[in-house]
Amino acid sequence: MTSDSTHPQPIHLEPFNQSTPPPSGRLIVFTGPSGVGKGTLLRTLMFNHPELHLSVSATTRQPRPDEVDGKHYHFVSKAHFEQMICKKELLEWAEFAGHFYGTPRLPIEQHIHDGHSIILEIELQGARQIHRNFPDALRIFILPPTFEELESRIRMRNQDSEAAIIRRLEQAQMEIAAAPEFDVQLVNDDLNTTVQTLEAIIFK
Ligand code: ADP
Ligand code: 5GP
Repeated sequence: MTSDSTHPQPIHLEPFNQSTPPPSGRLIVFTGPSGVGKGTLLRTLMFNHPELHLSVSATTRQPRPDEVDGKHYHFVSKAHFEQMICKKELLEWAEFAGHFYGTPRLPIEQHIHDGHSIILEIELQGARQIHRNFPDALRIFILPPTFEELESRIRMRNQDSEAAIIRRLEQAQMEIAAAPEFDVQLVNDDLNTTVQTLEAIIFK
């Protein structure tokens, strides 16, 4: 987030009442550098466990060729995003690599209230906001085996411009340094092994 007056400013978030939701409803935060494999891991996890729910974020970035509005993200204008902040419709939000990203509040409150576990796949600033407001959330940080492997995965994905790749790699260094803040740190080396470890952590 920046303090630049042209950008939206942070808002104070009231945590929802954590004494009322049934005990099975859990907030799970997934963080890690772009390209580390969060999306790939989550797709497998959701396929294996349809009872889990994944939050659909709002973003001001442009859709990638295979992305569907309302499924991968709610793609919104900057003005619309600012409105969502003003109306306190976002549980957390942050600026990442030149775009805004945020978690719509209502679906999360509904899922937790209904006793469903819900996963937020968000970057570091957002994860910190969630930790401040929802200290019981389980926060998992996904690490790459090496920085070289991270760069190769971002390039292999072949979905970002060279400028975007450089920005994401710069951001990645800063994010990886914050990994010890998280409850769990997991290296995504072999995909199946990582999924199995995640299952053991989430369903223990
Ligand atoms: P993120 O959601 O963290 O930005 P993606 O899920 O898009 O990352 O993964 C980036 C690239 O890395 C994709 O091409 C994906 O297939 C690949 N990938 C993900 N996990 C692994 C893994 N464990 N081993 C090798 N490649 C992986
Ligand atoms: P991408 O543009 O690669 O889809 O996402 C860029 C970064 O934004 C990723 O680290 C992703 O986890 C993060 N992100 C996605 N949605 C949200 C959100 O709602 N809030 C925050 N804080 N970060 C998000």
